[in-house]
Amino acid sequence: MMSKVIVRCANSGGDVISKIAIDIDKIIKIKKGETVLIKPNICAPLPSSTGATTNPLLVEEVVKYVLGKSASPSIIESPIFAYDFEQSMKVTGILEISERYGIPLIDAQQGEKRKVEIGNGVVEIPEIAFECDTIINMPVLKTHVQTKVSLGIKNIAMGLSSIKGRHTQHTGNLDETLNEVTKSIIDKIRVTIIDGIVGMQGEGPTHGEPVKSNIILVGDNVASTDAVACKVMGINPADVGHIKFAGKLGLGSIELSEIEVVGEIPTLGFAIPPQEGSFIDRITTHPLASYIIRKTNLGLRTRTKPVLDKDLCDGCEICTKVCRTNALQPPEIDYSKCVGCLICLEVCPNHALKHESTLHKLFRLHR
Ligand code: SF4
Ligand code: SF4
Repeated sequence: MMSKVIVRCANSGGDVISKIAIDIDKIIKIKKGETVLIKPNICAPLPSSTGATTNPLLVEEVVKYVLGKSASPSIIESPIFAYDFEQSMKVTGILEISERYGIPLIDAQQGEKRKVEIGNGVVEIPEIAFECDTIINMPVLKTHVQTKVSLGIKNIAMGLSSIKGRHTQHTGNLDETLNEVTKSIIDKIRVTIIDGIVGMQGEGPTHGEPVKSNIILVGDNVASTDAVACKVMGINPADVGHIKFAGKLGLGSIELSEIEVVGEIPTLGFAIPPQEGSFIDRITTHPLASYIIRKTNLGLRTRTKPVLDKDLCDGCEICTKVCRTNALQPPEIDYSKCVGCLICLEVCPNHALKHESTLHKLFRLHR
């Protein structure tokens, strides 16, 4: 059966948030008594006006919709490791929604976990994600410094994963690991709602520029919804490694001709951060090639790593909390320890950590 994606934008008429119940009803039927897990993107204590997090008004409408079906909603999330769960939920208005409607707000790092085997290790996912009837996946329409975009697949694979599991995904082939994790609960992700009311372009997921797009996408398949969202941002989904791999893995079609799109797809032309896309990069970052290069000790620089701007760094050490290899000793980076996961870029409040340039990559002293 063809996947379906509804594109609701300001041109469709009226306020996009208030139409969400109508759109969800066209995608799924939630039955009385079902347990529904709502997974917004609250990666950091940043309000939705920054484009980093899901709009609380949209989350509230979804909560009301689920309660209106006499089903049981819970909200689940886990911000980037450096950020406090309570503070992130408070700043973004999610805590208030949970209290006002008396629904559970679950920290995905707590509680019982189930182990999911992926190519390069094991990732722990909350047991409740396997036991619930439905997951409503609510990412933000945004670009990403490492994966080009951060949409539905990433919101599930990173947002529901244990901290250790996030590191495992980052140290493998991210295009594959993100999809392997998502695949483990694909049957539960019955609807993906991409919040583009305020999206983010450039250096997402936290340092980009907000883009007021006033658009919401609602789809029954996470890969197909991500593919349409790419098109909205002006990006070819086949040029995004993890979305292309989702198509290959059979998570859903990413071919627009194979997706039933309801509504017009505007092309908003989001700015994307520079990517490592050269032929040489693709070969040298392939896990097998990367392993051989490491073993033969040729001294080639393969992965993109961060560079630290000493003028912008105030020594707060937030980045050291997320670096699992202890490579960061601000203002220095030990490149022999750094694995290039780039998680530190997401948490630096001063934007002092950036992608290295090709020249720096070639001449840095340690691999
Ligand atoms: S690089 Fe950023 S996060 Fe790390 S110590 Fe400097 S200012 Fe803080
Ligand atoms: S310094 Fe390297 S290993 Fe540590 S968080 Fe940053 S990119 Fe990852």
